[in-house]
Amino acid sequence: MTFKTLDDLTDTAGKRVLVRVDLNVPMENGRVTDTTRIDRVLPTIRELSGKGAKVILLAHFGRPKGERVADMSLAPVAPAVADLLGKPVAFADDCIGDVASAAVSAMENGSVLLLENTRFHKGEEKNDPAFAEALAANGDIYVNDAFSAAHRAHGSTEGIARLLPAYVGRTMQAELEALQSALGKPKRPVLAVVGGAKVSSKIDLLENLVSKVDMLVIGGGMANTFLAAKGVDVGKSLCEHDLADTAKRIMSAAETARCEIVLPVDAVVAREFKAGAENETVPLDAIPADTMILDVGSASIKTVRDKIEAAETLVWNGPLGAFEIEPFDKATVAAAQFAAQETRNGKLNSVAGGGDTVAALNHAGAASDFSYVSTAGGAFLEWLEGKELPGVKALED
Ligand code: AMP
Repeated sequence: MTFKTLDDLTDTAGKRVLVRVDLNVPMENGRVTDTTRIDRVLPTIRELSGKGAKVILLAHFGRPKGERVADMSLAPVAPAVADLLGKPVAFADDCIGDVASAAVSAMENGSVLLLENTRFHKGEEKNDPAFAEALAANGDIYVNDAFSAAHRAHGSTEGIARLLPAYVGRTMQAELEALQSALGKPKRPVLAVVGGAKVSSKIDLLENLVSKVDMLVIGGGMANTFLAAKGVDVGKSLCEHDLADTAKRIMSAAETARCEIVLPVDAVVAREFKAGAENETVPLDAIPADTMILDVGSASIKTVRDKIEAAETLVWNGPLGAFEIEPFDKATVAAAQFAAQETRNGKLNSVAGGGDTVAALNHAGAASDFSYVSTAGGAFLEWLEGKELPGVKALED
């Protein structure tokens, strides 16, 4: 993967730079309730603005499906970005056409403008060339800093990148470098920890990982499907019995690829799915028929620790148990904290992300010690699945 970064961008003063950012922030009553995504795009905005560029932000918000939907306007996000940036952010009521071009014409060097929701136009999600051209008409340079939207071939992520000189923003650059260090050219051995609820949502991911990593720990509800396929009676546990053949296929692909699959060796079981439910730790051949597995047991935690200790690189997606309800968060917390410790001590490159993983690592107080935690959700998962991300591909070309 080779990309042009902001380091390659010289002579920026006075240039109109269209920057694709992720401002799909949670909002309540017209106010931004979590600024994580805004925080992440500030470095690129600051750098470009500092170099005298006219910084024009492109973003989507929600799913308006090509229509103007009042409560999916980005207008209330502009002041939130301005607050964090510490300088004014102008807003234009449309991302293309006269409204956008008039707002861009009024910009001074170093100023920042946010354009209205790209998804108010049908051409965005259809990646209509005419829409991409209309976007590109307002810029001299394109910078993509929205890895989280890179799995979609949309006008503002893919189409436009083929029309203007295209560069990777700082946050996306960090994300791509982290991913590259984890699965592209990793230090071996590489360990993947995959947990979460269901195998069905992660078949492609598991198949890709067994071909790339040296060890694969499977935990969470999805481990039950693997255990059941191996003949373990999992009682009332969440289990996709119809996927037994898929589980077997993945295990045999792992064997061929010399990837060691590590399944739980014991389980924490309970009769109710609720915080504080009475529970016990049992070996796999003694799971009472009226109980469900809600976490991996202490012997399994020890194994996971040993694997993390043996690894140079860790890729993590999905909790090892039902971490939202105590005490079934124990294995996830223990493993996350150990991985964080190994990372702090310089012994591990740890990359995590997707779905509930960020919440689980935050719950464990471990996220800030991981080498990289991706908040990209869908794009991170597609990358774990080994898929080419169109928004990334367009920048490579
Ligand atoms: P995912 O979004 O696929 O990563 O799944 C995360 C969800 O899996 C969390 O809500 C966990 O509570 C759930 N989960 C993990 N382990 C189990 C389990 N043993 N039984 C039921 N749900 C689980």
